[in-house]
Amino acid sequence: MPERLETESRKLLRRLRDTLAEPSAGQERLDRITHLIADSMRTQVCSIYLFRDPETLELSATEGLNPEAVHQTRLRLGEGLVGRVARAARPINTGDATQERGFRYMPETGEESFSSFLGVPIQRLGETLGVLVVQSRAARQFSEDEVYALEVVAMVLAEMTELGAFVGEGATLARPHQQPAMFRGVTGQEGTAEGHVWLHEPRVVVTRPVADDPDAELERLRAAVDRLRVSVDEMLSTAPGHDGEQLEVLQAYRMFANSRGWMRRMEDDIARGLSAEAAVEKEQSAARSRMQSVADHYLRERLHDLDDLSNRLLRILTGQGKDTGAEMPADPILVARNIGPAELLDYGRALRGIVLEEGSVGSHAAVVARALAIPLVIGAGRVTTEALNGDHVLVDGTEAVVHLRPEESISDAFRDKMAMQAEAQKRYAGLRDKPATGRCGTRIALQMNAGLMADLPSLEGSGAESVGLFRTELQFLVNNKMPRRGELAAIYGKVMDAARGRKVCFRTLDIGSDKVLPYMKPRDEPNPALGWRAIRVGLDRPGVMRMQLQALIRAAAGRPLSVMFPFIAQMEEFAAGRDHLMRELEREDRLGHPLPASVEVGAMLETPSIAFAPRRFFEMTDFVSIGGNDLKQFFFAADRENERVRRRYDTLNVSFLTFIERIAGRAAESGTPVSFCGEDAGRPVEAMCLAAMGLRTLSMRAASIGPVKHMIRSVDLGEARAVIDAARDSGAQSVRPAVMEWLRGQAP
Ligand code: PEP
Ligand code: MG
Repeated sequence: MPERLETESRKLLRRLRDTLAEPSAGQERLDRITHLIADSMRTQVCSIYLFRDPETLELSATEGLNPEAVHQTRLRLGEGLVGRVARAARPINTGDATQERGFRYMPETGEESFSSFLGVPIQRLGETLGVLVVQSRAARQFSEDEVYALEVVAMVLAEMTELGAFVGEGATLARPHQQPAMFRGVTGQEGTAEGHVWLHEPRVVVTRPVADDPDAELERLRAAVDRLRVSVDEMLSTAPGHDGEQLEVLQAYRMFANSRGWMRRMEDDIARGLSAEAAVEKEQSAARSRMQSVADHYLRERLHDLDDLSNRLLRILTGQGKDTGAEMPADPILVARNIGPAELLDYGRALRGIVLEEGSVGSHAAVVARALAIPLVIGAGRVTTEALNGDHVLVDGTEAVVHLRPEESISDAFRDKMAMQAEAQKRYAGLRDKPATGRCGTRIALQMNAGLMADLPSLEGSGAESVGLFRTELQFLVNNKMPRRGELAAIYGKVMDAARGRKVCFRTLDIGSDKVLPYMKPRDEPNPALGWRAIRVGLDRPGVMRMQLQALIRAAAGRPLSVMFPFIAQMEEFAAGRDHLMRELEREDRLGHPLPASVEVGAMLETPSIAFAPRRFFEMTDFVSIGGNDLKQFFFAADRENERVRRRYDTLNVSFLTFIERIAGRAAESGTPVSFCGEDAGRPVEAMCLAAMGLRTLSMRAASIGPVKHMIRSVDLGEARAVIDAARDSGAQSVRPAVMEWLRGQAP
């Protein structure tokens, strides 16, 4: 960069900063700014156009055009050269404005005598707030350096706009033009919600865009980038397993963090007078504008990575954390890249909905969202880049769709849908005290799944008979250290209190696979779902399991206790787990603690092997609960966490239903109660088919009780079974088409 220009633009920025620091009102301030830019750039005209509303730009201040035109001259987005700059968010630089496509002459401004035109968007983080224009009589193109300098000035203006420096009488500042956006993701938790965006990690606010000492700023930038590189290298060296996609992202991060081009552009910005953080933000803004126009998915993703990296760098430079002092809207929809279970629990039920860019269906955040019954969409594209705090947003967890800044027609349709769902909920509430008895007279026991204290209030309201599965992992996952026995006993005791005499079936700790405790060293296993998890960990390192069993016994104290062991793959594992429980009961008795009034011990059937266990296994267990989520993944050899395959095989596949029938039959031989507690139990059609195959107890999330009960009550399970059998005999792969057709023919 030529030395003269470098010092010129620094001088200009310094003058701009001084002007902005003076105590003047909005309009006067704008006028001074246009004056000093025209003066510094040696042009006859400098004008600022700001959005008056999302579609209209207004001449807000000018040096050189007719002052009468200020606040009179307006252009629609895309209209004239100014409108084109705003729409494309790209500069227009021409020596002869009249020859330029889209030129529109505005006689009231007196601009006919100015031939050359340079307009740049006033942009902050990819949002266009207005347009900054310089014009001169001489028919000449502005040099690359001049364009660049004006862009830097525009960026500082954007920062100031953001800080409210322009808001004063006459100088309107409307919200910039914001396009509606739609994101498709994956269902984390069903349900719909309308609300306003609450960013979990809000944007960093740059309060000091201009700096005096470029050397000091360069030093700050380099130190921050060094820290960033170290942290990216650390992330790479500790990236768990061989997750190709994650590794690829991190490698792209490293590539950017080491990119000379990125660094050089920021160094140039600093040489022109920007502070280190303003230079980072300018680059981020440019990347965001590019992101909007790049169609290639891979490139967009890389720009997204760059955006993320810039955020990290901004946080290092400004030291700003998450708390910006902004107020959470009354109907917050949390938007985040990802979030941990503890952080999500902190928000609790205050949230209406959650939208995450990352995460998986089985992630801890998803487990918490489900427990709190908050609609959750995961894998929602680049939503954190596009959403701004306070944006109107609609979340459809069922369809896995998010509408950001929706059009009125979309909002209307969405509200209709929500009203219909509320109507259905009312209908279900009417069934609350009625049994889930089919037209055939067969009664199905409906239980609910839980994992948090927060779940328990819904036990009564949902119409569930009891808690068929209490997942105990969350109390372990949300802490930074292993919970103590006393703490656990207190929690379990409260859970039993809240159940008010209804049975709660506690599942012992099911960790490993996707559930890694923060204080346990993650093990590098080639295939964690098939690895050291659940009861396998419990039996190999019995300390934690015994402590948990003690806590459960103490919590029960005189009340019935129901415990089940997860992931039992062979009979001996169940026998060993049960022996531990018996030993703990004896020990507690010796210590003089009151024992539970009764104890029942069950096994989760989650691997096909145990369905074929000796009859003695079924005789030994007080009950068996089918963990359909795991069972299905092992039955079909299709990872439940892998989006590519997890929906590939239908639960109503003939092989799977036949397998369920077989399990129900084996349990019946020994009179062992059997239930099903995977996600499919909460889907009305699937639940009805499971019942038709012989299961009499289903455990599901609270919100599913009503819909499932409604379904069971409206059919004859014997007829359903006949339809399934006929479909099986016909050689169909799945009985779904036949069942759906039969259901359509049923009386409402
Ligand atoms: C299951 O596998 O079906 C189950 C209920 O357990 P989880 O989803 O916690 O693995
Ligand atoms: Mg399981």
